[in-house]
Amino acid sequence: MNVTTKEIAKETKSESKIPKYKRILLKLSGEALMGDRSFGIDPEVVQDIALQVAEIVKDGTEVAIVVGGGNIFRGINGADKGMDRATADYIGMIATVMNALTLQDAFEHLDEPIQTRVMSAIAMQEIAEPYIRRRAIRHLENNRVVIFGAGSGNPYFTTDTTAALRGAEINAEVILKATKVDGIYDSDPKKNPDAKRFQTVSFDHALIHDLRVMDATAFALCKENGIPIIVFDLGVTGNIRRVIMGESIGTYVGGSCEIN
Ligand code: UDP
Repeated sequence: MNVTTKEIAKETKSESKIPKYKRILLKLSGEALMGDRSFGIDPEVVQDIALQVAEIVKDGTEVAIVVGGGNIFRGINGADKGMDRATADYIGMIATVMNALTLQDAFEHLDEPIQTRVMSAIAMQEIAEPYIRRRAIRHLENNRVVIFGAGSGNPYFTTDTTAALRGAEINAEVILKATKVDGIYDSDPKKNPDAKRFQTVSFDHALIHDLRVMDATAFALCKENGIPIIVFDLGVTGNIRRVIMGESIGTYVGGSCEIN
């Protein structure tokens, strides 16, 4: 797993050297930091993510990250066991801050460190900046990776919705939704060997066919604001760069284009 940024660049050598996207929002679920573990954080996986992101930052793409917390705590699970839902959600939001700080540490420990700022939607001034939209944009313009922690700061929401919200606020051209599968299928590929992966799919098609790209609120925000979503497999080293360079991997959701 210990690859260098040069190796990633070699692996993903693409005809075009100019990134397709100037500013992106990367949504990392808590599970993405977990690797093969059943809980918590796998430092090697986090280092690999930091390396992949560092590569695109060096290519000139501005990167904001919304990180989830499901590897540590999900509000809904606490509520299912009798906790007050809002309290459980605040614990979930704090879990996302733990992940945000872990990511920041990984960026700063790279051989060629990348400047990052963690911005929290819940005030924690000793460890993170407060979320201020204009300041976040300024950091991005200065090529700092901005990591948004504490979700939206509101219970009853998810970090998918936060990704759509922050993506709209910072004028991200695209939301990259990193997952453990290589895109969106017409049926469950684990159950149906003939399941077909979509390369592109319109918002309307995804909605009508209940393709569950993101949760409903997040999806509605992206659709209304015309922010495309690319769902792709983060487990393949170099995939973030491939997406940024415009390679057709994963599934592109957006616009009025029809499925193929
Ligand atoms: N959460 C919240 N409001 C937000 C974002 C997150 O209350 O705006 C809480 C919620 O309890 C959620 C937890 O934080 O379960 C972790 O976020 P999420 O489940 O979206 O993480 P992921 O599934 O991406 O790891």
